[in-house]
Amino acid sequence: MSTFDLIVVGSGGGPYETNLSSYLFKPCDASWKDGIIALEAGSGIGTLHQLMSRDPALFDKLSAHEVYSLIRCFIISHAHLDHVNGLVLSAGSLQGPRKRVCAPLHTLKTLETVFADRIWPNLASWDADDAAYKLLYDPFKFDEGYRTIFPDVSARAMPVLHGKNDTIGDYESSAFFIRHDPSGQEFLFFGDVSPDSLSSTPQTIAIPATLSSVFIECSWPSGRPDEQLYGHLSPEHLVDELAALAAEVVAARAAKSRAEREREHGDEDDVLPKKKRRRRRNRSVDPPSAPLAGLRVYVMHCKEDLEQRHSRPIYHVIRDQVAALVQAKGLGAEVLSAEQGMTISTRSRPPFKNRTLR
Ligand SMILES: [Zn+2]
Ligand SMILES: [Zn+2]
Repeated sequence: MSTFDLIVVGSGGGPYETNLSSYLFKPCDASWKDGIIALEAGSGIGTLHQLMSRDPALFDKLSAHEVYSLIRCFIISHAHLDHVNGLVLSAGSLQGPRKRVCAPLHTLKTLETVFADRIWPNLASWDADDAAYKLLYDPFKFDEGYRTIFPDVSARAMPVLHGKNDTIGDYESSAFFIRHDPSGQEFLFFGDVSPDSLSSTPQTIAIPATLSSVFIECSWPSGRPDEQLYGHLSPEHLVDELAALAAEVVAARAAKSRAEREREHGDEDDVLPKKKRRRRRNRSVDPPSAPLAGLRVYVMHCKEDLEQRHSRPIYHVIRDQVAALVQAKGLGAEVLSAEQGMTISTRSRPPFKNRTLR
């Protein structure tokens, strides 16, 4: 069963302004005319117009201007230009209902310095009654859990690191769990990420057992020295992050099956001797093979190969490097690349209890 239809307006990592992070999606059983959610807004209406002149059926024959008017909210991971350029440039000509800009508070505060009548006119406000401003700042709190952002769609934000700089120290980006409420299925979308964002995080990530797809950046190809990553991932580091995710998945799966077993054998457990009970609890924590089987990992945000070192698109080179490492580690995920102009149908996966618990 499909959950969301997602169109890739742009998926590159720069510097081509015609292919920057920008994704538009809706629940699969709704029509585009029912409203659209934008996830990042690097490339904007101009890129969309170019894509649609090549493929007029992309949004059921709507024009790029109509598609942009139908956007209800923009979900933004961080305020770097390659993620907000389209939002800023289009803000003066947006039609349709007021659009919420959903992002962590510090990201919105940074964006406010752009909409401050110097770099760009002030076209956004914090006040829900301020209809004169087409954009409404709507902060995500990292600890608030899921919040409805659109009919049948909820989102939860999680902070991730995206390098350091001399001015503010650690630079924070975010990742979003996006849930299709009727089915409970989710995908996880990462903004830009530096190495060890998950693998060195002491907190648990609370991965839902209903995760079907992960969108994650891999800006550089394999072998790039760590000091030249500039707050981004290469395949080696991406696979470390996936291994950290796999550990969370194993823990989530173990907790779920333990809860189910305790529900089924609750009475029996009460009368088991303590030793036997402990053995039963520990049984499910052996690491299974292919812990991410059934999960689709979409690689995105690859930096353009300006020097043409590769004879094929850089996003295929990087995808294949990630896939080889995922296979070598036995993680079991399917690795794909998110490519400009592509329609991706995220789909539900069978519950973990039917998967490889050996
Ligand atoms: Zn960035
Ligand atoms: Zn970026």
